[in-house]
Amino acid sequence: MIDTHAHIDFAEFDADRSDVVLRMHSVGIDNLIIPGVSPKHWQKQLAVAEQYQFYYALGIHPWFCPEDVDASIFALTSQVSALLECPRFVAIGECGLDKLYASTWPRQLAVFEAQLKLAQSVNLPIIIHSVKAHPEILACLKKHPLPRGGVIHAFSGSTEIALEYLKRGFKLGIGGLIMNPNAKKLLKTVCDLPLDSFILETDSPAMAPINVIEKRNQPANLVLFIDKIATLQKKTSVLVSEHLMSNSVQLFDL
Ligand SMILES: [Zn+2]
Repeated sequence: MIDTHAHIDFAEFDADRSDVVLRMHSVGIDNLIIPGVSPKHWQKQLAVAEQYQFYYALGIHPWFCPEDVDASIFALTSQVSALLECPRFVAIGECGLDKLYASTWPRQLAVFEAQLKLAQSVNLPIIIHSVKAHPEILACLKKHPLPRGGVIHAFSGSTEIALEYLKRGFKLGIGGLIMNPNAKKLLKTVCDLPLDSFILETDSPAMAPINVIEKRNQPANLVLFIDKIATLQKKTSVLVSEHLMSNSVQLFDL
């Protein structure tokens, strides 16, 4: 299995990163994708990816929306061109729109659209963070269709919204929220749609599932989500993990 979204480069893992990686391997997760979040994070992100031979994406997260949009997009474009031939560089992102960060909204839109254009020009899939912004994200995707699609990370929406993304070649990233019985919309979406629609992710260290004691999320928790999806879909865990692994391999060309 692969965790398609883990910020294992973040400081929360500095003290015990190798133990977390060992634990992840011990439950059958072979690799993960570290999403990029901002120019000042890339150096450490790339060093961690190199050390453990993890996959990675490069991008600018809406929480780290830059003051100078043009300069940061220039930095991203240069970094992307320098690494384009690296087989572990698999996507643009994490990028997107977050309405809870209203003060940077106009800049968020500019940075997101620039990253959509970049993904289009280098022909990579994209990792999208969408918080209270599905209409705006969908409008941007209509304007900048991506031949290789991408993933709507930490998807929690309805089946109707999910279908809008699926028809544009996107997968839905399913993570810790699926363990929460109050996430009714998401649970219904996972019951309704075929397994082709999903990939697995933890968003470590964020979004720890409610049924684990440690508040820091980690890649090994991914196995809990496989069992939960299997129960919801009335399928075996082996079938679910194989199907979702093959979705990830196809999407990111691993
Ligand atoms: Zn993330």
